Amino acid sequence: MTVAVEKTKEQVLKIAARMASAGLVTGAWGNVSARVPGEHLYVITPSGIPYDAMDKMDLVVVDGGGQVMEGERRPSTEIKLHLAIYRARDDAGAVMHTHSVFASALAVAGKPLPPVLEDQVQLAGGEVPVARYARAGTGNLAAAAVEALGQANAVLLANHGLVGLGRSVEEAYQVCLVVEKAAQVYAWASLLGGAAVIPPDEVRALREMFLTSYGQPGRQARGRFTP
Ligand SMILES: [Zn+2]
Repeated sequence: MTVAVEKTKEQVLKIAARMASAGLVTGAWGNVSARVPGEHLYVITPSGIPYDAMDKMDLVVVDGGGQVMEGERRPSTEIKLHLAIYRARDDAGAVMHTHSVFASALAVAGKPLPPVLEDQVQLAGGEVPVARYARAGTGNLAAAAVEALGQANAVLLANHGLVGLGRSVEEAYQVCLVVEKAAQVYAWASLLGGAAVIPPDEVRALREMFLTSYGQPGRQARGRFTP
């Protein structure tokens, strides 16, 4: 396999460990994938292997149709979800799926997360919609997620969890973290009498500012996105 595949595997392994230690998933649930730059290949975490026991050899390389190209393990059961997002969104370099608590609470309530915090808006692109219910691991769930996602960078899966995407694995992880935090803040604000939502013009301006002038020049280009 190529250097690009090996490099992508290292990135996926590292971010999967951070996802687990940040408490965004429990046990072996949740999954992460990344597009291999310049190749029609994707690296995805395996099904049912705990994150603290996972190593590079456990990761699976698949093509756009889900055919395993390298690896001994079975890919994540949500592989259809990941591949459907890559097909629908050319800008997606990585996809992360978590079961974090407050995002899941909104997904159970069937409520989208309105744009309530500036970091949420900058990273997730505004409101986080809720996809209609579909069973985990099915093509139906993949279709429901893509349908609700549109141009947002995160989508809640009804009665299930959250999916975040980014240009890099780091960005997909930050999207999931920030959406979980915003979901928690939104839940608390609702208990305190109601959440004030950021107006649409301001949402657009914040997102635009983030895409054009946030951080240090060249950081994203080197794939080392750090908000
Ligand atoms: Zn799940």
